Amino acid sequence: MISFTLHGIPVSRGIAIGRAHILSPAALDVQHYLIAADQVEAEVARLQSAIATVHTELQTLWSELPKDAPAELGAFIDVHVLILSDPMLSEVPLDIIRTRHYNAEWALATQIEELSSQFAEIEDAYLRERKADIEQVGERVLKVLTGSANLLPKPGELGDGAPAMIVVAHDISPADMLQFRDRAFSGFITDLGGQNSHTAIVARSLDIPATVGVSHASTLIKQNDWLIIDGDAGVVVVAPSNLVLEQYRERQARLARERKKLGKLKKTPAVTIDGTPVTLLANIEFPDDCPQALDGGAHGVGLFRSEFLFMNRPAESALPGEDEQFASYKQAVIAMKGRPVTIRTLDIGADKPIDFIEHTSLNPALGLRAIRFCLAEPQMFLTQLRAILRASAFGPIKLLIPMLAHAFEIDQTLALIEQAKAQLRKQNVKFDEQLPVGAMIEIPAAALALPLFIKRLSFLSIGTNDLIQYTLAIDRVDHEVAHLYNPLHPSILFLLSHTIATAAKAGVPISVCGEMAGDTRMTRLLLGMGLREFSMHPAQLLSVKNEIINSDLGVIEPATRRILRTYEPTAVADAVERLQVL
Ligand code: PEP
Ligand code: MG
Repeated sequence: MISFTLHGIPVSRGIAIGRAHILSPAALDVQHYLIAADQVEAEVARLQSAIATVHTELQTLWSELPKDAPAELGAFIDVHVLILSDPMLSEVPLDIIRTRHYNAEWALATQIEELSSQFAEIEDAYLRERKADIEQVGERVLKVLTGSANLLPKPGELGDGAPAMIVVAHDISPADMLQFRDRAFSGFITDLGGQNSHTAIVARSLDIPATVGVSHASTLIKQNDWLIIDGDAGVVVVAPSNLVLEQYRERQARLARERKKLGKLKKTPAVTIDGTPVTLLANIEFPDDCPQALDGGAHGVGLFRSEFLFMNRPAESALPGEDEQFASYKQAVIAMKGRPVTIRTLDIGADKPIDFIEHTSLNPALGLRAIRFCLAEPQMFLTQLRAILRASAFGPIKLLIPMLAHAFEIDQTLALIEQAKAQLRKQNVKFDEQLPVGAMIEIPAAALALPLFIKRLSFLSIGTNDLIQYTLAIDRVDHEVAHLYNPLHPSILFLLSHTIATAAKAGVPISVCGEMAGDTRMTRLLLGMGLREFSMHPAQLLSVKNEIINSDLGVIEPATRRILRTYEPTAVADAVERLQVL
């Protein structure tokens, strides 16, 4: 096979080498996971049994056909029985389970997809229409299969010999991405997506190389192709030569050595050369992420994205209730052993839709998302506030409110917090009466009206992902405008430095919790603007600390002031690059 290279947007760093596993949209609708070697025959039997069940169903349908039913109906069932008995449907998926270790649903969906695309190319119209029959029979079997739940294998359960797998998909939603958290995948490639889409953020939090916005990747790359992802450059090499493979393996080994070296910084204080201490915090999606945060030497959690608790829920339990949420928040605060945990209230909408909640905005990024949604659903919001307040009896918690822009939104939120407190007092439930409440500064209007926030709240955290999206008017998940997503645009640098300086002057703690905080190319620039609190993925903590302990504010601050007076894009980019070597 001829080797070729594809280019996309680098979203999660490092090198991944492995075999392609294409997730077709149809396969995404069913569960897809790998079967441990000793479970393969059981999985084969599960599919065989589902096929047998559908056989019986079809026979019953036949025998129960009313006498006056049109003759085509019987013929139609006959065709379905024939399709079901054909080895293409009854045997090939079994081979897929045996050779690729896919679960039954995934194996079947893969084969249906393959057959459908073959049929779609047939010239004869009658035969071409059989495509729909194949899909219907496949759906019948899938329906029987999905009646049974399965446990997902964890990494390591697949045996050491299995080659690493790289997921290739047209698009992956943040909820789908979460399903990969505990699986044995080593990299991601998608056709769509932007630098700071939540899918990209989850890939970074999994700490596996990923490249998104690789147009047509899912059609150009074939199942089982050898792939290399260069997550730093956003490059994907398909079917690499041995020489190229060797070069990347060497780079992979060098990165592993560098990582190991960074590991030694875990207990080193995050203090600049001139003696200025810096606080390094972790962004988490689940309480289970806390051990990784502590491993990276985090001083606390700067952003707990609570909305992830609301995703991928089994239908019967709908949204997590107060007790379930309380258990998660308490787990996080206990895991952090006395370090502060900043819980952000539900930030749903835009690219984080949630099942069971209708999202009807014409333009979701500008619609009823985050705090706007919570204020429109006060009962749901109060449930979350009570759960967070209850957890605050077990350790230091801070409450962070997303997407605020208006004074009345702050006032209504504070009133609801008071209401939640009053409800708990009535029930004699303990909580932290002084629970600090802060705002995310992620809408330009907020950054330009800081006194509104400073007067009412006790801390601020800049969400650069949304701040950039809204300032530059580009959808952060749209790959067609991803090239316009520029953290170094003078307007962004102005809003950042203005917010940091205004908060510092007022004595209000300020952090950055957007992706810029975990980007080592931005560390010195943010330090130069006066930032002393950075919140990022646990995997980035030690690299950012490494930058900090090698930075001298005496040199960086005047250089940053000069950058803030520069407006030419190349001059700004060059000057920021030069900051790295000062
Ligand atoms: C941000 O917008 O920068 C942020 C941290 O929040 P999220 O990425 O979850 O929108
Ligand atoms: Mg945001």
